[in-house]
Amino acid sequence: MTQLSCEPFKIKAVEPLYLSTREEREVWLREARYNLFNIRSEHVFLDYLTDSGTGAMSDHQWAAIMTGDESYAGSRSFYELKETIKELMGFAHLLPTHQGRAAENVLFSVLVKEGNKVPGNAHFDTTKGHIEFRKAEAVDCTIREASDPTLIHPFKGNVDLERLEEVLEESHDQIPFILITATCNTAGGQPVSMENIRSVKQLANRFGKPLVMDAARFAENAWFIRQREPGFEGHTIREIVREMFSYFDAATMSAKKDGLVNIGGFIAMREEELFRAASVYNIMFEGYLTYGGQAGRDMAALAQGLRESTELSYLDWRIGQVALLGSEMQRLGVPVLQPFGGHAIFVDALKALPHVPREEFPAQTLAIELYREGGIRTVEIGALMADRDPVTRENRYPKLELVRFAVPRRVYTSDHIRYTAAVAGKVLERANLIQRGYRLTREAPILRHFTMELEPVKA
Ligand SMILES: *Cc1c(COP(=O)(O)O)cnc(C)c1O
Repeated sequence: MTQLSCEPFKIKAVEPLYLSTREEREVWLREARYNLFNIRSEHVFLDYLTDSGTGAMSDHQWAAIMTGDESYAGSRSFYELKETIKELMGFAHLLPTHQGRAAENVLFSVLVKEGNKVPGNAHFDTTKGHIEFRKAEAVDCTIREASDPTLIHPFKGNVDLERLEEVLEESHDQIPFILITATCNTAGGQPVSMENIRSVKQLANRFGKPLVMDAARFAENAWFIRQREPGFEGHTIREIVREMFSYFDAATMSAKKDGLVNIGGFIAMREEELFRAASVYNIMFEGYLTYGGQAGRDMAALAQGLRESTELSYLDWRIGQVALLGSEMQRLGVPVLQPFGGHAIFVDALKALPHVPREEFPAQTLAIELYREGGIRTVEIGALMADRDPVTRENRYPKLELVRFAVPRRVYTSDHIRYTAAVAGKVLERANLIQRGYRLTREAPILRHFTMELEPVKA
């Protein structure tokens, strides 16, 4: 018999939200030049821009903030974090950093050289950036199934083993390590199976290469393994986490995701030699070895956050809430991608707004309509984010035009989620009336989506 469940927490502190009027939002949209990054958060009712650093801490984490040790060297909070990571992930060595990309910067300063290739499943933007900045190449070896938005597959974040083997054979001398991102953010928060991790490890061993995890959402990945992979039903999340990490030599982590804190990151390593080499860069870029850009209280809150994010009841609810948003939208006729990701739901804007020409940015048009309709902020993942071709300067049109709803952790209730789906449903009801989109009036030469300015195209 299945047991009914709901939020596995109650609320001790509340943050008021202001539901603005449509007229107010119309003014703010115009003032923001139709770029949702330019909207003040006070003018947003529910914010799904990102799940990064936007989560709510628990009372135990706030208590840890008060008892954190602010010593420069040898902080008690550092040792608490180090022991928690040793216990959960099995790594003996720890370097704290101020966030995930800083961990990449430090570790890659040791491992990545000009001309190198770093194969793995789809690399996250900052990861790719830190590889390419060193004149090396991130080789995407995600399984082909991941690029088909209509295909149902339990582990769309998996590495294509044949492709990886090819790359290892072709470029053996140029490969410093193999990288697995779990869950795979770039593939839509899709998980990687334990079987796939084991097979990648076998290949890594055969070619004598270390295996590194980009572990931002490791706990969510473990939940999917427990849910979907034969043989793991009865296991605890922590048993699965332990086994996952047992195949890795090191991990970088953005603690702003499954660390359940608002800022922070770290590198965890097995070998002392790598730890010593990375320590040099950590001191240069981040801070001394026992704080690395974090306050003592931040490390204390992170240690507690890692214990909480590896609780089954939390993960059941967390990933269940993301799925609730997906299934409610689906029920209301909103075209959502399947299977639902661990941290976000994606809407297919080409299906949702079929009349808006691609040159007028259907996904951005939909994101603007969602804000206009109900004060909801989402993000465009389409032609605006894909930017212009660096050589021809033509717009690049990716295969998919998506709107992403990334769900902050422990922030919204199921009522908020139902409201969100209802707002999307209402936009879809009048989708036939939305014929025109937007044109750019100003854009930066690179990463234009953050600062671009737009205006509506008149019919
Ligand atoms: C967020 C993220 C990063 C970068 O971390 P920051 O804390 O934002 O610097 C790296 N990899 C993945 C998979 C992420 O989701």
